Amino acid sequence: MIKSNNFLIITLSILFVSCTTVQPPPQPNESFKIKPVKIQPHRINIPTPSRVAPPIKKPIVQTSPFPIAQLPASLLYLRNKPAVPGGIAWISLLTRSNVPPVIKYQNKQVLVLRNGQQWIALVGIPLTARIGQHTIINQDNNQQYSFKVTHKRYKVQRINIKNKRKVNPAPSDLRRIRRERELIRSALASPWRPTTTSPLPLMQPIRGRLSSFFGTRRYFNGQRRSSHTGLDIAAPQGTLVGAAAAGKIVRTGNYFFTGNTVIIDHGQGIVTLYGHLNSINVFSNQIVQTGEVIGTVGKTGRATGPHLHWSVSLNQNMIDPTLIMK
Ligand SMILES: [Zn+2]
Repeated sequence: MIKSNNFLIITLSILFVSCTTVQPPPQPNESFKIKPVKIQPHRINIPTPSRVAPPIKKPIVQTSPFPIAQLPASLLYLRNKPAVPGGIAWISLLTRSNVPPVIKYQNKQVLVLRNGQQWIALVGIPLTARIGQHTIINQDNNQQYSFKVTHKRYKVQRINIKNKRKVNPAPSDLRRIRRERELIRSALASPWRPTTTSPLPLMQPIRGRLSSFFGTRRYFNGQRRSSHTGLDIAAPQGTLVGAAAAGKIVRTGNYFFTGNTVIIDHGQGIVTLYGHLNSINVFSNQIVQTGEVIGTVGKTGRATGPHLHWSVSLNQNMIDPTLIMK
C-alpha cells in the first residue's frame, strides 16, 4: 500500500515538473530585428543679422480727449453769420492737430470746437468792438487769421424805474458798483478750463417770453445807460432756473444791478451769469450739470418785474446768448 502511494506521488511529481518546464524563448526572426538609425548631425539655422525680421510695430493709439465730432446744426449756421459787435466770428483753422490749438484774440484764449477733421474757432466779439479788421493768432505756429467786424444797429429800449437810486446811484452805491464790476469781470476771466465735450449749444435756463434782447441801447427814465449785455426772459417769481450747461459755480452774490446773481464757468472760456434771482440754490465751487436748478426767478437788483437776466460770456466778452442757444 505504501509502495503504491509512493509510486503515485513520484509519478505525479514527474508530470508536474514536465508541465512546468520553461520553454526557451523563440528566436526573433529577421523582420523583428531593430534597424540601426542613422542620426543626422543637427544643424541650427542662425539667421544673419540682416535677415532678422523687424519687430512688429504696434499701431499708435491716438488718445486725444477730443473725439472727431460734427457740430450740430444749431451751431453750424454761425458760419454764415456776419461778425458784429456782441456777435461771434466763425473762423475755420488750417491746423490738422489732434489736440485743440491755442488761439488768442486780444490776448485771451478762444473757444475751439472740432467739426469733422477741422478745428473751428468761435470768437466772442465785444459790444464795444471797432468796425474793421480784427485778428486772431494760433499760438502753436504763430499763424494769423483776420476777420472783418461789421456794424450792427441794436434797437433802443426805454425803461421807467421807480427806484431812482438805481438810475442815479449815490456815491456809496458807485463805490459798490465799481467793486462788484471787478468781481464779475474776474469771474468771467476764470482760469482756462479745457473740456472734453463741447459746452455748446447752451440750454435756455427757463422757458418764458424774451422780454429784452441783447445789445439794446437803453434809456432809464430818459437817461442813456450802458447797453444791455444779456437776454431777459420773463417768468413768474419762483420759476426754477436751470444751468445752461454743465460747469462750476465761480461766484454767487447780491449785486447792485443784477441783484442775487449766480455765475457759472462751463470751461473753454464760456461763462454764464444769472441775475435778479429770488433765491440762490448753489454755492461757490459747486459742480452742476446741465439743467440743474441753481436758483429761482425774482426781481432783485435793478428790475421792473420778475424775470431772468441771462448773460453769456465768450473769451471774456458778453455776446448775444440767442446765437448759441439750442
Ligand atoms: Zn437784463
